[in-house]
Amino acid sequence: MSSRSQPRSLSEAATDLIHHPYEAPGGFRSVQPGVFKASTVVFEDTAALRSREWKDKSGYTYGLHGTPTTFVLEERLATLEGGLQTLLAPSGLAAIALVGMALLKAGDELLLPDNVYGPSRDFARHELAQWGIVTVFYDPLDAASLASALSPRTKLVWLEAAGSVTLEFPDLGGLLRVLREHPDVVVALDNTWGAGLAFNPFELGVVAPAVRGDTRGVDISVHALTKYPSGGGDVLMGAVLTRDEGLHLRLKLTHMRLGLGVGLNDVELLLRGLPSMALRYAAHDASTRQIAAWLQGRPELARVLHPALPGSPGHAHWQAHCTAAAGLVSMVFDGGRFSSAQVDGFVDALRVFKIGYSWGGPLSLVMPYGLQGMRRFGALAGQGGTLVRLAIGLEDTGALIADLDQAFAALR
Ligand SMILES: *Cc1c(COP(=O)(O)O)cnc(C)c1O
Repeated sequence: MSSRSQPRSLSEAATDLIHHPYEAPGGFRSVQPGVFKASTVVFEDTAALRSREWKDKSGYTYGLHGTPTTFVLEERLATLEGGLQTLLAPSGLAAIALVGMALLKAGDELLLPDNVYGPSRDFARHELAQWGIVTVFYDPLDAASLASALSPRTKLVWLEAAGSVTLEFPDLGGLLRVLREHPDVVVALDNTWGAGLAFNPFELGVVAPAVRGDTRGVDISVHALTKYPSGGGDVLMGAVLTRDEGLHLRLKLTHMRLGLGVGLNDVELLLRGLPSMALRYAAHDASTRQIAAWLQGRPELARVLHPALPGSPGHAHWQAHCTAAAGLVSMVFDGGRFSSAQVDGFVDALRVFKIGYSWGGPLSLVMPYGLQGMRRFGALAGQGGTLVRLAIGLEDTGALIADLDQAFAALR
């Protein structure tokens, strides 16, 4: 350090610190990738400014368009889901809304499965409706229902496997076979449940190389990273994955103009969660299957909904496409015997399970839903009563079953 004869002014001190010349040596390697944060990205000169292209990953222009840290997360998610391009959004719901905003205009029609994620349905009913886009619902277990819902104005079809709350596993093969006849319709899947682990969304229906082309995979996979990739119950983020550069660019331009940025601290947490995700998913899955099997023996329940249970809606479709089954199970209380207040009492009696939305973290969660008016197709259509969804965390399975057992005892 050079010695100073006079004390520096505060503004000189500020300048010294802002323009500090020290640079740490390169080549640092650690277990996790470094976290680069930026709104501003600095260009070496005007030539660099003019030549830099924000639309691809050849360089950096502005924090909103990517830093080395977001690029690493995007590439790892693409590998996970079998896609080629990834966009990050501030939540799973923002990722879903982005797809609708980028691809639909007034006069277009959107098809949603009956058991679509509720807030996705609300976005269609309110914002998309207000912008002149018509939503038509189809039965995800019946490919003919999808075929008859399609019209020349259909531009986007959403699939969800398994369906939200009621966990019917859709006839993915049949639905995609219908959609193969409509190559101009974009097919998007909410893949939060499958998480890139239960099945490959871009190669669905490709049973063997010989029948390749018999069906089609999806064009877009959306993943609420809030769930399994985070695994902590403490991060909100979403991703939109594609395998087509043109489609990716359409989505990316809207993404850019909407200014959908993500926080780099959150990206860091996701990069930390991803390496353990497959093991956590397997643990959630194994525990949930044990609990679902135990629930099947409960006389208080009219139905146990879990795609890997024989008899659960869409079980055969689950079997055709998946080996794994995530960590959700729903149970329908016998409506003739238990009022919704009694079922609320059951929920309140649980001690290990906590009442809360979302899933994918270590803590087991419970949420009651009224069935009245919830479904227009399938076995639950027109039914009343209460459904309780369990999101199985990473606690000891025996402790979770004991907790359920004492809550059932309180119900009687
Ligand atoms: C949670 C969830 C979302 C939305 O994710 P957020 O990050 O909470 O907005 C979307 N789809 C499904 C199926 C989900 O479970």
